[in-house]
Amino acid sequence: MNEIVRTRFAPSPTGFMHIGNLRTGLYAYLFARKHGGKFILRIEDTDQERKVEGAVEMVYRTLATAGITYDEGPDKDGGYGPYVQTERMGIYKQYAEELVKRGGAYYCFCDKERLESLKDENGVHTYDKHCRYLSEEEVNRRLAAGEPYVIRQKVPEGVVSEYEDMVFGKISVDSADIEDGVLLKSDGLPTYNFANVVDDHLMGITHVIRGTEYLSSTPKYNLIYDAFGWERPKYMHLPPIMKDATRKLSKRFGDANFEDFISKGYLPEAIVNYIALLGWCPKDNREKMTMEEMIEAFDTDGVSKSASIFDEQKMRWLNGEYLKAMSPEEFYKVAEPFIDRAIGDAPWDKRELASLMQTRVDVLSDISEKLAFLNEFGEYDLNMFVHQKMKVDFNVAKRAVKVAIDALEALEDWSDDGIKACVCAAAEAAQMKSGQVMFSMRVALTGAPVTPGGAIEMAKTLGKGESLRRMRYSLERLERI
Ligand code: GLU
Repeated sequence: MNEIVRTRFAPSPTGFMHIGNLRTGLYAYLFARKHGGKFILRIEDTDQERKVEGAVEMVYRTLATAGITYDEGPDKDGGYGPYVQTERMGIYKQYAEELVKRGGAYYCFCDKERLESLKDENGVHTYDKHCRYLSEEEVNRRLAAGEPYVIRQKVPEGVVSEYEDMVFGKISVDSADIEDGVLLKSDGLPTYNFANVVDDHLMGITHVIRGTEYLSSTPKYNLIYDAFGWERPKYMHLPPIMKDATRKLSKRFGDANFEDFISKGYLPEAIVNYIALLGWCPKDNREKMTMEEMIEAFDTDGVSKSASIFDEQKMRWLNGEYLKAMSPEEFYKVAEPFIDRAIGDAPWDKRELASLMQTRVDVLSDISEKLAFLNEFGEYDLNMFVHQKMKVDFNVAKRAVKVAIDALEALEDWSDDGIKACVCAAAEAAQMKSGQVMFSMRVALTGAPVTPGGAIEMAKTLGKGESLRRMRYSLERLERI
């Protein structure tokens, strides 16, 4: 590519950001970086009615957390601003008037009633081009009289508008199927149809990367480029991300919100890695990749035409891989807030808990469930001691717990190895299977059916005093049966 690539991400601040929106931004970013180009953030806020308080800040936060850095944007001037559409109002009006002069658009004075009357039985109206044929004098007279107007696209007749999409190939639409749509509304605000063209042109965007919902409108936008005599950008439309076989992810329904995943304890880099794979696959089919590796590997050939389904289980798995690959120190840093939440003020050694958790959780919010045994120990169901396969019943459990208590009371080296050697020796001396003793001890220590580790790890985590207190309490209960 000889030209300097410029791509943009153009979110509308109409809600939070679901991972489908973010994926669009990510691909535009990867493409720009791959080609040594610039990545631009533009806020498309002309739909003031749908604007949601705080949504713009959320866009900044999300991109920063996701590690998607832009070269130009509302807070980073690159000489093509402003980068917020409501700050560009004068520009659209000026270009709409210019387009009228060039014969690519016209003033339309039709009022609501007239437009209503054009509706078909389904309530859809196609504009009948009434004002396209007004004489210049009439237009000037009505403008001078201050009549409200919109500016409409003058779609050329009898042409086929075609372009080559980088993912979907040739797309063509007959101009007979394109309405003379509104470009500038009566309040002077542009429609998306106009603003996207003017902005992409003025911002020097070379590659427009966005969702497939715009695939078939693009021939219409291209006619506007042509009417201005502007060079068309190249286009890459991206297939949707679905939540199941028939439904797209939707921000209106709160689906797959990036920030929700962060608070659930997903790592940003794992989410970003996962969403990169929703619609793109590197040539070597790798799955776990850093941002740098994705930039290096990103290629249009690998972008899929078909929709992909968002699979949280897969994302959990990938997140778990990221957690396991961290150094103990890195893991401790991200896990600490979740450990704090799980144990409150209890005096457990947080570093030890972190090392116990690192290979056992896929998502950090799993920590609270896994550590529940630390705080919740009490009137648990004694039937948990019965294990047919291991031939453990209440009597065996009672003996086993007693053997363990007697042996561990004298133990000084409260390490994994120390506890293990001590319990195994005691089991042997008592002529019991060490599996039976370990199993009974684990239940006696935790009172939980599932625990994040076996008896040794649980005893180590709980510490000597608490372990013995719990086992004695459990033994008392067993003796009362
Ligand atoms: N503001 C549009 C949206 O959020 C962006 C479309 C585009 O990228 O051109 O859907």
